[in-house]
Amino acid sequence: MRAILGGTFDPVHVGHLHGAQAVRRELGLDSVTLVLSARPPHRSAAATAEDRWRMLQLAASDQAGIETSDVELRRGGPSYSIDTIRAFRSGGETVVWILGSDGLDAFRTWHEYEAFATACHLAVLVRPAVAVTAPPGFRETGEAAALSRHDTGLLFRMRAPMLDVSATRVRTSIARGGDASGLLTPAVWNYIRDRGLYRG
Ligand code: ATP
Repeated sequence: MRAILGGTFDPVHVGHLHGAQAVRRELGLDSVTLVLSARPPHRSAAATAEDRWRMLQLAASDQAGIETSDVELRRGGPSYSIDTIRAFRSGGETVVWILGSDGLDAFRTWHEYEAFATACHLAVLVRPAVAVTAPPGFRETGEAAALSRHDTGLLFRMRAPMLDVSATRVRTSIARGGDASGLLTPAVWNYIRDRGLYRG
């Protein structure tokens, strides 16, 4: 079973790592894969895909059980999650797509959103003050082991509380000349400072 957290990671922060580790623990997996959304279809990014990829690699390098994938960086065109899910599934793996509960609200705007329920399971990171509603075709389960018994179409809600951190908060803080080091790994904070990213 392959659990994937896709994101713009502009930049990757402790909330992402904490969420990925919660999934690894609660689903009993050896690893979780962070996939960089190189060209996100619904938004722009402040940093280049190359800088975001470097930061993602730096953040993962000292985390046990966190892998990174540049599959969307190498693929041309917009970074559609469904294409990434299909790519991993073609290797025969059951895919668990991880997303924050804020992402569920926009689910119906996703490219080929109706195809998700027959392509993957969902693992939802419950971010503070955001409710969880299962998207069409998904059925919620409270049993982590059910994800291994079924191929697709289940939604599992993480029990661990998530951190109240966002990349927007990191960027805003840096643009104001603030210290965002507590929201990032030391290597990512150093990279941002060395490259002068997000200064506004
Ligand atoms: P931004 O503030 O720029 O929108 P973000 O912090 O939400 O960014 P993304 O890279 O867009 O970061 O997020 C990738 C995924 O991680 C999304 O599914 C998002 O909901 C989730 N996520 C982001 N921050 C957290 C957090 N603190 N806890 C749990 N999940 C999170």
